[in-house]
Amino acid sequence: MKANTNYGKLQSSYLFTDIAHRVASYQKENPEAKIIRMGIGDVTIPLCPAVIEALHGAVEDMSKKETFHGYGPEQGYDFLRSAIQGYYKEKNVELSLADIFIGDGAKSDVGNILDLFALDNTVVVPDPVYPVYVDTNVMDGRKILYMNADESNGFLPMPQADTTGDIFYLCSPNNPTGAAYNREQLTQWVNFARQQKALILFDAAYEIFIDDPDIPHSIFEIPGARECAIEFCSLSKTAGFTGVRCGYTIVPEELTYDGLALNRMWVRRQTTKFNGVSYITQKGAAAVFSETGMKQVKDVIAYYKENGKIMAKTFEELGMVFFGGYCSPYIWLKCPKDMESWDFFDLMLKEANIVGTPGSGFGANGKNFFRLSSFNTKENTLEAMERVKKILK
Ligand code: PLP
Repeated sequence: MKANTNYGKLQSSYLFTDIAHRVASYQKENPEAKIIRMGIGDVTIPLCPAVIEALHGAVEDMSKKETFHGYGPEQGYDFLRSAIQGYYKEKNVELSLADIFIGDGAKSDVGNILDLFALDNTVVVPDPVYPVYVDTNVMDGRKILYMNADESNGFLPMPQADTTGDIFYLCSPNNPTGAAYNREQLTQWVNFARQQKALILFDAAYEIFIDDPDIPHSIFEIPGARECAIEFCSLSKTAGFTGVRCGYTIVPEELTYDGLALNRMWVRRQTTKFNGVSYITQKGAAAVFSETGMKQVKDVIAYYKENGKIMAKTFEELGMVFFGGYCSPYIWLKCPKDMESWDFFDLMLKEANIVGTPGSGFGANGKNFFRLSSFNTKENTLEAMERVKKILK
């Protein structure tokens, strides 16, 4: 037996463990400190009533012989795939049901999709980056190149004359920077990928935060994207499903490489290795796309976005440089006076009792940045910003 030694090449990811230790030890020494956690990327508001009702209904279904459900279709129930098809139609994106696959979240599918690609492909990711894109490829041993995302390009790298690679990861609105590609920029990416016969893996996990018509919710809003892109999305941030687990992946039927259709390969992969998302979960997910459900989840998003506005206004008043906070739950704040992100973390923890995420945890270009999230209560956000004003003035 030989182990996959690529695992030995993974960088130990102690980011959130390190944060937790520093916070715990500070809280132990200062038990009276009221710490506000703004580092998390997890939602805090419960599931909306339409989803809860649908989940209860589905549990009832499972209790009766006539409506009990055993194994479901591996690609997901048609009632949910049709609901997602309708959601895309509102954005003028035509999908066939066969394009749509239901999974247990974007993270799993982002990792699992790599089963379809040869190991000698070169993968291109931005720096800073959502670490899952890197780690899943390190596990397989693929070569990884980095594109600089920094202040000079607004943390939105574009293809350059000398850009080469086979698989490109784009995440818009971005975690961790909150930056989002506009239509013109995504069009350039799609044209580039088609020319190069490359593939874009587009992560739309935060699309629900977009309310600017110039920023596409889906890469399939761009003509030609069906020939060069796969899209991942989930209900984690859209509808608070981080603990319920449901996502969807769009693999257009047109995508063909080496004479093989990626859609057929993904069907084969899923039917072999995956037995579907539970009926109960899918019923809850379908309720998100009902008229009532969508209104309810959008109210929750509006609440988080209000927090983002409060934060953005504060940093503007303080004359600080930041990205995101507009079509995203994240604010990517430049640490003052070129401070290193862990030093700024300590300053914020000790002087303001606020926890954020040091940018260096997402890549070298994050070393002077700090990620704050709006997944909090309005009261906490207001209180946190008052403290920030006091220490950063
Ligand atoms: N993609 C990005 C960019 C994320 O930030 C996250 C979660 O934070 C995910 C995917 C994973 O989402 P899910 O809960 O659907 O697995």
